[in-house]
Order: sequence, then structure tokens, then C-alpha cells
Amino acid sequence: MNQIQYTNRAKAVDRRPLNFIERLYLWNIFIGMFITIKHFFKKKPTVQYPEQVREVGTAYRGLHILNRDEEGRERCTACGLCAVACPAEAISMEAAERLDDEEHLYREEKYAAKYEINMLRCIFCGLCEDACPKDAIYLSHTFTPTNYHRKGLIYKKEDMLIPNPKTQPEEYAKAKGLIDDKKKK
Ligand code: SF4
Ligand code: SF4
Repeated sequence: MNQIQYTNRAKAVDRRPLNFIERLYLWNIFIGMFITIKHFFKKKPTVQYPEQVREVGTAYRGLHILNRDEEGRERCTACGLCAVACPAEAISMEAAERLDDEEHLYREEKYAAKYEINMLRCIFCGLCEDACPKDAIYLSHTFTPTNYHRKGLIYKKEDMLIPNPKTQPEEYAKAKGLIDDKKKK
């Protein structure tokens, strides 16, 4: 059995006795107050979220956006590649076939009748964005809102689709700008 060898190397510390000023501790209190006051007037690094929202970098990955084309048609074809790539198994969908009179709604012959992302599982890795061959899903710069209920954090297709350029051109341009910024990164 190994035995630990102790050596007597401890040394007694020769403490210098405090002088009168040091025993009053006023100088130390003054230094402490000076540091406190200095920080009091500094710009605060904290923000009052959710009333205030911090600016994030261009590479930040937040809430998902489902993209439309310039005609306002949904780009997603429910191919499932994002769900396969997702390490958290957070994405689920149901595919449907486009009808003849739905060409103005869906870009391809197949579309996602149901598309959900469970934000409680999502780790915002961005692999779904990388896997998508149809330019259909992006992670925006928006923080995921908090919620008191688990159900409220399962996002449906309607929660993530960007506005339709035909009916909401300004909102669409804004959302599209965010996507284009991401593409440049
Ligand atoms: S960001 Fe990552 S974890 Fe979240 S849904 Fe996409 S692939 Fe899954
Ligand atoms: S978001 Fe992209 S990868 Fe995912 S199902 Fe739709 S088209 Fe396929």
C-alpha cells in the first residue's frame, strides 16, 4: 500500500503588527467605497430584459424563420432533412401534396401541412439551417420568448413563417433583410 510521506515544511508567518491608522480600517473603507462609487457611475452591462433587448452579433442563432419566395409561396417541401440533421430531435412535420389550385401557396408539389419545432429541446445549433436544400429555414437574431407553459414553446409553422410579400410587403422586406444578413456572414 502506498503511503504518503509528509515533510515538516510549514513555516510560521511573521505578521507585522498593524499601526494606528491601519487599525481604524478607514483607509480600507475609503478604498472600498471608491470602488463601489466608480462602478455605480459606469455603464451597466445588464439590460432589463424583456423590456430591453440586447443587440446580438450577426452570427447569433435565435428563433427559427420559415422562408417564403418572392411570390409569397412557402419554400419548405417537407423533405425531412432538417429533422434528420437535428441532434435534439426537436423537429417534426407532416407532408402533404399540393393541389392544382394551391400553386400560389406552395412552391413545390409537396409541402409541410404541419411543421413544429420544440424549443425546449432545441439547442440552436443551426444544423437544420445548414441541412435545408430549399433555402426554407433560418435561425434569426430574435431571442426565444419565455413562456409559463411547455405547450407554448412548441412552435408551429404559422408561428415561424415570415410575412407574405403580397399582403405584408414591409414586414416581409424586414424579415428578408434579416435572412440576407445571415447569408452574408
Ligand atoms: S437549431 Fe439545431 S437543435 Fe434546434 S431545431 Fe435546428 S437542428 Fe435542431
Ligand atoms: S425546412 Fe428545408 S430541410 Fe426542413 S423539411 Fe423543409 S425543405 Fe426540408
